[in-house]
Amino acid sequence: MNIVFLGPPGAGKGTHAQRLMKEMDIPQISTGDMFRRAIREQTPTGMDAQRYIDKGELVPDEVVVAMVKERLAEPDCANGYILDGFPRTIAQAEALDKIAHIDVALNIDVPDEIIINRLSGRRVCTACGGTFHVSLLRGDTCPECGGSLYQRDDDKPETVKNRLNVYQQNTAPLIGYYEKKGILSTAVCTFDTVEENYQAVKAALNAKA
Ligand code: ADP
Ligand code: ZN
Repeated sequence: MNIVFLGPPGAGKGTHAQRLMKEMDIPQISTGDMFRRAIREQTPTGMDAQRYIDKGELVPDEVVVAMVKERLAEPDCANGYILDGFPRTIAQAEALDKIAHIDVALNIDVPDEIIINRLSGRRVCTACGGTFHVSLLRGDTCPECGGSLYQRDDDKPETVKNRLNVYQQNTAPLIGYYEKKGILSTAVCTFDTVEENYQAVKAALNAKA
C-alpha cells in the first residue's frame, strides 16, 4: 500500500509513520530526514536545501521531486511505502501522480495551539532519529537508544510560526486535492498520549484500506 501522510508540522507524522513502517514492514520516506542527512553530509542537494530549511521555507519543487523520484525507484519501495512530508504543494502532488499510485492520503488534524507547544519542546535523537517531548524526558539522552538529543533550528519559535503559515498557504490545499480523488482519510489527533493518537491514525487508515 502506498500512503501519503498529510498534516501540519508537529502533527506527529514522523512518529506515527515510523511505527507504521515497523508494523507494515514498508519504508517510511521522510523528505525532511533526507534533507537533514544531505545537509550533514554536505551533498549538493543538502547545500541547496539548507538556506530554505533554515528559514522555514519550502525547498523548491524540482529539487524535492527529483529526490523523491530517485528514492521511490529503489527496490524496498516495491511493496509500498509511507511518504512523510511529501507532497507539500499541489505541484508536488501532481508530479507524484505521474510516478506513483497513491492508495490513501492520511490527514493528521491537530490545532495550532497544540502544535506550537509540541514543536517548541521537541527534541530529536542524532542516532535513531526518534523525536521526544522535553516534558517526557529524564536526562539529555535518547530514551530509546542513548544517543544525544538536539533541538532542530527550525523548531525555534519564530521559525515555527513561519512553518505554520507556509503549511496553511501551500500544503493545506492538498486536503481538498485528495478528497476529490476519494482517497482522503482524516485522523483527529488531539489526545495527550502518542498511543491514543496512533490508534486514531490506525482507525483512519483502516477506514480506507
Ligand atoms: P516538519 O514536518 O516538522 O515541518 P520536515 O522534517 O518534514 O518538518 O521538513 C523540514 C523542512 O524541510 C521543511 O520546513 C522544508 O523546508 C523542507 N522540506 C521537507 N519536505 C519538503 C517538501 N516536500 N517540499 C519542500 N520542502 C520540504
Ligand atoms: Zn535514539
